[in-house]
Formats: sequence, structure tokens, C-alpha cells
Amino acid sequence: MLSKWRAGLGLVAVVVCSCLSAPPVSPHDMDGLAEQYVRLVLALGQHDADFVDAYHGPEQWREDARRDELSLDGISIKAGLLRSTVSAGDLGRDTPVDGQRRTLLLKQLTAVQTRADLLRGKKFSFDQEARLLYDAAPPHYEAGYFESLLVELDALLPGEGSLSERRSRFRDSFVIPSERLDAVFAAAIDECRKRTIQRIPLPENERFVVEYVTDKPWSGYNWFQGNAYSLIQLNTDLPIHIDRAVDLACHEGYPGHHVFNTLLERELVQKRGWVEFSVYPLFSPMSLIAEGSANYGIPMAFSGREREDFERDVLFPLAGLDASRVDEYYQVEAVVKRLNYAGNEAARAYLDNEIDADAAVQWLQDYALMSRERAQQRLKFIEKYRSYVINYNLGKDIVREYVEAAGSDSDARWTAFEKILSTPVSASMLQ
Ligand SMILES: [Zn+2]
Repeated sequence: MLSKWRAGLGLVAVVVCSCLSAPPVSPHDMDGLAEQYVRLVLALGQHDADFVDAYHGPEQWREDARRDELSLDGISIKAGLLRSTVSAGDLGRDTPVDGQRRTLLLKQLTAVQTRADLLRGKKFSFDQEARLLYDAAPPHYEAGYFESLLVELDALLPGEGSLSERRSRFRDSFVIPSERLDAVFAAAIDECRKRTIQRIPLPENERFVVEYVTDKPWSGYNWFQGNAYSLIQLNTDLPIHIDRAVDLACHEGYPGHHVFNTLLERELVQKRGWVEFSVYPLFSPMSLIAEGSANYGIPMAFSGREREDFERDVLFPLAGLDASRVDEYYQVEAVVKRLNYAGNEAARAYLDNEIDADAAVQWLQDYALMSRERAQQRLKFIEKYRSYVINYNLGKDIVREYVEAAGSDSDARWTAFEKILSTPVSASMLQ
């Protein structure tokens, strides 16, 4: 073990000591290793504006990254060497939570190296990329799987035209009028927050602001600023349907991204001094946990028929929609949600160069029942974020399985859910 460590340090000294100011670190010095990881993430952020999703660590480290201008080659090499050093640490001496910390750091470093390699032009298949960046193996579904669900929807959406056109027409009656958007979202956020803080105590100062934006490839985004504060942006390029109010309030806010980031900051950075959690690299295993918990946060906050009841009593009237149609709407949407993995299949086939952009947009219309405009927006998302798409549905399924394994008691489920939000975990660590 020791000789391996010495060999690793020798390489560090030879290959990269001129690129980084930080000295070599012992494999047992997790805080020192974590600092080097944060510096590498910030270095990669200099090449990739999307990579550093949030950073609330020392400002000097960001300035160092700007000054050092570490190349992509250098980042890839350094990430590999740092991973060797971290893995040379004595796992047997770690407490369980220290072991979790070390295991996640290794996986995060794999992601840093993979993203740097991808930007250098190295080719990965969709599945390889998903495994290296997100620590998960996305399932494969044939068209036949989705076709059986489309038959179900065919009966629910009578009328002329293709199924995606019929769904679009059906949904036209459930668009939130733009002048009511803010009131509807505010009510949804209040409810999600109320339900979450009954289960997970949050810091007194936690807060966020909501901004409405346009011309983005996503529908909503949480930009965590540190100190329990988030900036949440909602994209109004396309009509916003009523289900998006609770979805986005839970996903971006409570108990989703805002709570996840707030708990990581409080439990791991502030209480334990684990500096690696002051940075959130977007293309990394943390994102599967973030997106999966944000999506599973919706049924955590609203169990059984609570969501339909809340929407009928509060959101539909606030939006000026016909509250007698809540059940009809959610009956259709429940089947459409099961088509969700069709988006992954489009992304895989497109990124693996098996189909072109037009065919991907058509597939999203035919199998995920998106409108043409929504499918085009989704393709832009796929081009920019690539295999990240698996984090939403596969992430949700992995989080669900973990939480449900705690039993049917709701307290036990919330305890399991909170553990995911506040300890170092990745997809394979939950399975
Ligand atoms: Zn998200």
C-alpha cells in the first residue's frame, strides 16, 4: 500500500507539479485530497462553462484556477493520478461515513477525468459516458415497450390526428395563463415547502428567488449560491401546463435541489468541513442523486391522492382552469410519464450517430408524445447535456427503490430520503 502511494507521489511530482500550486498529499489526508479535487473541478470549469454548477468554497481557489490555466490534458492526467492516491488510502481504517466519502470522491474524480477527455475529443458511447459520469447503467427499451403504452393512450385521447397532436390538443385546456403564472407557482412552492419542513428541518435563513427567463434548453434551473440561498429560473419559452407548477416547485425547491444543496452545505461542508461538497460539478455522479431525488421529491411531498386534491382545491382555481377535470388530466399524464425513457432512447441513438436530428425529433414526438416545439427544445438539451438525461428517470427510479426499501412507514421513508440528501452517495452506492 505504502509503495503504491510513493509511486503515485513520484508521478505527481514529475508530471504536474509545475501546473498546480498545491503540494502532493498523503492518501490518508482526505481533506487535502478533497482540496485538490475542488481545484481540479474549478480548473475544468475554465474550459467548460456548464461544469461548475455551484461553488461556495474559497474564492482564492477560483482565482488560482483562472491564473494557472491548467490544460485539458493536464486536468485528465491529474484527475487520474489523484484518483490513484485517493484509492491508496486505507479503506479499512475509514469509518463507514469516511469510507462513503472516499468512495464518492473516487467516482467524482472519474467523472472529472471523463469530462476532460470528452472535451479533448475522446469518443465514448452513450452507455460508457453514462457509467463514467453518473455511475449508472441506463436500461435499454425497444420501441415495442413504448408502443404498448401508446395503445393505452390511444383509448384515452380520442379524436383526429396523431397521438402527439391529440395529446397537445388535450393539454391546451390545462395551460397556466401567463398572468397567473406567478400566483400559481407561489402557491405550489408554499405547499411544497410546508410539506417538506414538517419532515426535514431546514436552516432559518434558507431562501430562494424565482426568475422567469426565455431562450433556454431547459424548463427550470436551480442555481445554488451558497448560504442556503438558491436562484431558481423558470423558462417561459413554451406554454406551461398546470402539472409543471408542483413538479417544478418540488424539483427545483422543496424537497428537491434547494433542499439537497442546503443540506449538503450544512451537514457536510459546515458540520464536517468536507470541502469537496462546496463545489457541484454538473457532469458527475452527484447529478444523478440531485435529479433523482428532485424528481422523487414530488411523490415524497404528495403521497396517494394528496396532489390531485391540492390541485383541485387550490391550483386549478388559481389558474382559472376547470377543477372538475383534475382526474382526467392526471390519468392521461400518468401513462405519458411511463413513456419517459423514450427520451433516453432518442438521446442514445442520436449521440451514438445511429439517427440524425430530424429522426430524433420525430422519435420524441412519436414515442414521448412531445409537441414538435417541445421535441426541438429537448434535442437542444440532449446536444448540450448529452447522457445527463438519464439522471431524471433512472435517478428517480434508483432513489425510489432505495427509499421504498425502508418500508411502508412514511417516517422511515423520509429518514431514508434525507440520508440521500445529506450523506455522500452515488447511484451504485444506493443499489
Ligand atoms: Zn433538476
